[in-house]
Amino acid sequence: MIALERREMFERKIGYNMKQHNYWHTTVQMPDPSTGSGQALTSIPAKVDVAIIGGGYTGLSAARTLAKQGVSVVVLEAETIGWGASSRNGGMTLTGLKPAMQTVIKKYGRELAKELFQCSLDSVNIVEQIVREENIDCGFARTGHLLTANKPKHYESLQGEVDFMAKEFNHNVRLVPPKDLRSEIGTDVYHGALVDEVSGGLNPALYVAGLADAAARAGAKLCARARVDRLERRERRGPELVERRFFIQTERGNLEAESVLVATSGYTGGVTKELQRRIIPIGSFIVATERLPEELAHELIPKNRMIFDYKHFLNYFRLWDNRMIFGGRAAFFPENENTIAQSGEILRNEMIKVYPQLKGVKVEYVWGGTLDFTFDQMTHVGEEDGIFYSLGYAGHGVAMATYLGATVADAMIKGNIKEHPFARFDFPGAPLGLYNGSPWFLPFAGLWYKILDWIE
Ligand SMILES: Cc1cc2nc3c(=O)[nH]c(=O)nc-3n(C[C@H](O)[C@H](O)[C@H](O)COP(=O)(O)OP(=O)(O)OC[C@H]3O[C@@H](n4cnc5c(N)ncnc54)[C@H](O)[C@@H]3O)c2cc1C
Repeated sequence: MIALERREMFERKIGYNMKQHNYWHTTVQMPDPSTGSGQALTSIPAKVDVAIIGGGYTGLSAARTLAKQGVSVVVLEAETIGWGASSRNGGMTLTGLKPAMQTVIKKYGRELAKELFQCSLDSVNIVEQIVREENIDCGFARTGHLLTANKPKHYESLQGEVDFMAKEFNHNVRLVPPKDLRSEIGTDVYHGALVDEVSGGLNPALYVAGLADAAARAGAKLCARARVDRLERRERRGPELVERRFFIQTERGNLEAESVLVATSGYTGGVTKELQRRIIPIGSFIVATERLPEELAHELIPKNRMIFDYKHFLNYFRLWDNRMIFGGRAAFFPENENTIAQSGEILRNEMIKVYPQLKGVKVEYVWGGTLDFTFDQMTHVGEEDGIFYSLGYAGHGVAMATYLGATVADAMIKGNIKEHPFARFDFPGAPLGLYNGSPWFLPFAGLWYKILDWIE
């Protein structure tokens, strides 16, 4: 009730309603084999080689790879295909990992860090390759990303980054000193920036719709409205393991599979309890303005970069169709009517702080989605008791989920998942096991990151 009143007050103040709706969905007919154009639901097959739980980039990319190699595969999606983070995100197709590469070297050593960073470069390449091979019209372009310094101290750290990335990873990034910032961004609030030309951007919903079509064309079965309620392993043993099968119960019928891949990201639930207690679901939110005049859009982001700032509680923004798409971690809890309304107000204010030119511009849409953080902020792939997984993208999954979906699928076929660079370190749960999937500590974590942003 309080949230509703607050929303009404805010909308009275700005003089219009902000639609709680995912703007990207207005740009595409999302694939919905269940209800779209009156088609019947795709039936659940009785038996498959591989059952994938989750119909986003990870699941669809894996399904495409498996189906192309003749494996019978089904994608079981609780809602509609692409419903999760994959149709809601900022569409930034980024190099690098969530943690800073200095941290990755310290924790995992130079050799593994190099392999992991190379995976991030390969991930952007694989998006480019799939878009080209499958003719996905999603506006993918290598426009580069811009990391902006909120404080002079941040810019000093970025100066070190240029040499570090060249020396350790043979990867060229470039500094933009404060005096040249206007060539990259139409604001003076930042204290310099760093450009990485290898990253790109796309329309995430058009991309996930295209990926779904590609997987289906390759022969994968995509089943929407097929929430997995139960997953049971059945083994027949002689002196050795003779046969292992999974019995999977969905809301629309049951099936058997030889292997299972969990691709549920921030929506990982109790069906895979052991994985759920290692994933922290965190909300991320975006607003989209009305279409801006061409010259204004050009002034705001002249080179069409994907932009994000240096803070823990960061803002990320880019243009699409001359609209400003401005996101951030406005509320920490996942999306619901209250957190979305609250985020609309916070993000509009943040956007105007960065771009005072947008004060009189209408924010037409606000929406949210759920990120999958892990306790070490790393992405993890692997196999436990015959169940494969690829999880923990921490807001860095457009390219990485596509890449890991494909490479984990390959590893499932070859039986060498343990050799995958992202499988070569532990996947930790909460310290002292103080977490069962319900993130009671989020308000404290949010406060902690705000304090860190203030101190650093
Ligand atoms: C607002 C927002 C902005 C973001 N911006 C960026 C960005 O700019 N760049 C970037 O790289 N990353 C970004 N990300 C992260 C990126 O979107 C994700 O990492 C990526 O989409 C994860 O894909 P996925 O296939 O693993 O998961 P998802 O797309 O989330 O799909 C998981 C699916 O699993 C389904 N599911 C869950 N449980 C079950 C069950 N029991 N049975 C059947 N199905 C189930 C869910 O319904 C869901 O559709 C952003 C995320 C959000 C939310």
